[in-house]
Amino acid sequence: MAISWKTIPLHHKILAGLVLGALFGALFKVDKYELEISHAVGRTVEATVVSRWETVAFVRDTVVLETFGREDQLRILQAYRRLPKADREHLTVMVRSAQQESSPPLRIDNVRGIEKVKTIAMTIKPVGTIFIRLLMFIAIPLVLSSLIVGAASLGDIRRVGTLGGKTVLLYMVTITSAITIGLVLVNLIEPGTRLTADVLEKLKMEFQPDIQSAIPPIDLIDMVVNIVATNPINALANGEMLQIVFFALMIGISLTMVGEEKAGPVIRFFDGMSETMIKMVGMIMAIAPYGVFALISATVGEFGFDILETLVWYAVTLVLGLILHMVGFLGMLARFYSGIPFRKFFSGLREVMLVAFTTSSSGATLPVNMKACENNLGVPKKITSFVLPLGATINMDGTSMYQAVAAVFIAQVYQMDLGLAEQLTILLTAVLASIGTAPVPGVGIVMLIIVLRSVNVPEEGIALILGVDRLLDMCRTVLNVVGDAAVATIVAKSEGVLGEQGKG
Ligand code: ASP
Repeated sequence: MAISWKTIPLHHKILAGLVLGALFGALFKVDKYELEISHAVGRTVEATVVSRWETVAFVRDTVVLETFGREDQLRILQAYRRLPKADREHLTVMVRSAQQESSPPLRIDNVRGIEKVKTIAMTIKPVGTIFIRLLMFIAIPLVLSSLIVGAASLGDIRRVGTLGGKTVLLYMVTITSAITIGLVLVNLIEPGTRLTADVLEKLKMEFQPDIQSAIPPIDLIDMVVNIVATNPINALANGEMLQIVFFALMIGISLTMVGEEKAGPVIRFFDGMSETMIKMVGMIMAIAPYGVFALISATVGEFGFDILETLVWYAVTLVLGLILHMVGFLGMLARFYSGIPFRKFFSGLREVMLVAFTTSSSGATLPVNMKACENNLGVPKKITSFVLPLGATINMDGTSMYQAVAAVFIAQVYQMDLGLAEQLTILLTAVLASIGTAPVPGVGIVMLIIVLRSVNVPEEGIALILGVDRLLDMCRTVLNVVGDAAVATIVAKSEGVLGEQGKG
């Protein structure tokens, strides 16, 4: 039988996009010894590519601001970004090349920008960005409408309370198990004691200054207060997930109290809205293989896998924990509690996992997850529309495990001994941090600060793990969404409404 592109199942196409994208990115990797410097010449801006330098110096007037060596591409980019405006506007870059050491250095005046030289692997990124944006624009209206309908269709506030309580309790159980697995592994493997002094120095030099400017003030009490929006429209406009969840639940609950005549049209409106959003996912997923290809090729092309080598033990500890929790805990829960065979559970979530991995965003993956849970695992819409948006916002098994592992790893590097009490504190704050983490790329590392502060581990330690964070974010997001799906099947089963699709 002839195989045509149309007959290949979507998840195979996405997987092909992933693998080919990674290869493409590796093939057209950004050169670590090359930089593009744009500079004003008269009234136009020109670009000069410099490569294989011996030294690069930032000069303002005749003062040398900073000098860099051969291996310092990243430091040059970061130092440029951090330059005070006045220096940046009058910057000259002097480049001494390795080949012609005796000749005078190349002088580039009126510098306007310094960037890595983009390869084709990075220039195709917009295709992937459009894919993520399409999923993101569904996410907010979907969370709002499906949670309103989800809560309203439960009938009365007591049912919302029971189902909500059960869901939240299950989320806490999966998060706690994830953190515990992470803590056990990081204490056994001790990745923080396996770093060489060289690597440590390099990581600190490259990422330290970024951290100082990135650490925002975080206050737990404020976080709780902030769940209540003063203006829900603002919350929607700014994508404040916790505020949106709270707002939607309040509307849903109130709708159960105003009587059918008034509530009916409102519920039908939001129901139609959520149905429409889910329909849209089907269309968007048609471009998923191309979006995934572009996203992965850009990530691999820009960051490569080299950085993982420096932190290999840390990465291994985390990835091992993620796999253990996913297969050993969530897979087993779905198997023994919900009665969904192991293979069925994971094959039903194939697309979901691939999208989570490539987009690093459980928010963007939510619509795909809702569709997969309904169609492949037999969770009815009335459960997915309540459990999954809530889970995407508060339940992050992967992120909380990562926060615990990272905190202990950093403590190990700083040779701090964390006792049982401290590890319990980590567990507790990682649960809270997971609730407060927005379901978008890279927020987990910001919320890690809460965990570090709770046990007095230096925040600057984040510098050590910043370089690998993008890649590990992809991995932890997969666990975040699989955790939500597993809980959705359990809630459906416990309510006696799990359909046949998930059975073997
Ligand atoms: N990227 C994660 C998510 O969206 C959050 C994080 O850990 O940064 O689920």
